[in-house]
Amino acid sequence: MIPFLDVGAAYTELKHDIDKAVATVMESGWYILSPEVDAFETEWAAFCGAQHSVGVANGLDALTLSLRALDVGAGDEVIVPSNTYIATWLAVTSVGAVPVPVEPDPSTHNIDPNQIEAAITPKTKAIIPVHLYGQPADMDPILSIAHAHGCAVIEDAAQAHGAAYRGQRIGGHGDIACWSFYPGKNLGALGDGGAITTNRADLAERIRVLRNYGSREKYINEELGTNSRLDPIQAAVLRVKLKHLEEWTNRRRDIARIYSEGLEGLDIVLPHVPQWADPAWHLYVIRARSREALQSALKSQGIDTLIHYPVPPHMQKAYASLGIAADSLPIARNLADEVLSLPIGPQLGLEAARKVVDVLRGVI
Ligand SMILES: *Cc1c(COP(=O)(O)O)cnc(C)c1O
Repeated sequence: MIPFLDVGAAYTELKHDIDKAVATVMESGWYILSPEVDAFETEWAAFCGAQHSVGVANGLDALTLSLRALDVGAGDEVIVPSNTYIATWLAVTSVGAVPVPVEPDPSTHNIDPNQIEAAITPKTKAIIPVHLYGQPADMDPILSIAHAHGCAVIEDAAQAHGAAYRGQRIGGHGDIACWSFYPGKNLGALGDGGAITTNRADLAERIRVLRNYGSREKYINEELGTNSRLDPIQAAVLRVKLKHLEEWTNRRRDIARIYSEGLEGLDIVLPHVPQWADPAWHLYVIRARSREALQSALKSQGIDTLIHYPVPPHMQKAYASLGIAADSLPIARNLADEVLSLPIGPQLGLEAARKVVDVLRGVI
């Protein structure tokens, strides 16, 4: 059996260090924010090449608080990819703004910069590119369009820990980048967690206040904040795992190489990596026209795959009220019908990756 991703195996590999780090927090008597969270924020900002990081409760809150820190709200529009995980859209609607979807470039699955300008109106306040599957979006044209129209750029980096765009790690290209440490992400906690990174001191400061009841000083509330703090126990786990993130990303790259070389020439579409991109390979996504048949053939030979994502946000019941016709975003719709994510992760092993290649070559 080859699982899609064994998150428990990541814990097993580092059990000794993680147990010790967690025990230290438990014995410290400091369970909210704390020096542990401060230390993680410093280390995470440094890893991302950004000046500031603020830990929050999860990736969705990172996005929502970023929008709030930029004063995006009712009456505003925010450009989002049509083919992202629903969290990107939910952040926008939760602050009362309207998500305006833009289709991806079908070769990279990332937002197509050439289609952004047509979606901009006087109400557009921000653009949220998603570095989908850990593959960086094409930031330079996105940033120049945003600059020309006075929009902010909020990066949804929830899948892009350790990815690089034109040689520079994701985390400091736009105004602010949003991270999730959900257990299955490339840097995953043992529960929920999230953060923002930014080079803008004003945004970092505002999010520090917003995440903690709108308060800088205990019982003094400057604005309507929320409770969205990174848990110190999770910060301790993340600090241990962060030391291994580069090595673990390299293991993902090795698996991706085995897939890309081994699957060449088959009647499936393999990931396309632009020359300026160094993906973190959160997911290795192929496209197959008879996706369901392929998925069950793999399953019958013990190989688990997943679909990211089977239903695009505009076709979800949750967004019926936006009234976006299903076929008005045909690229997102077609990708949802064809994508298939192969097993990948730092603990998968190269032998398992070769087995996936052999089985795939046998069933296509
Ligand atoms: C995981 C994810 C999120 C949300 O992160 P949570 O920590 O689960 O709230 C947002 N955007 C994308 C693209 C994601 O993959």
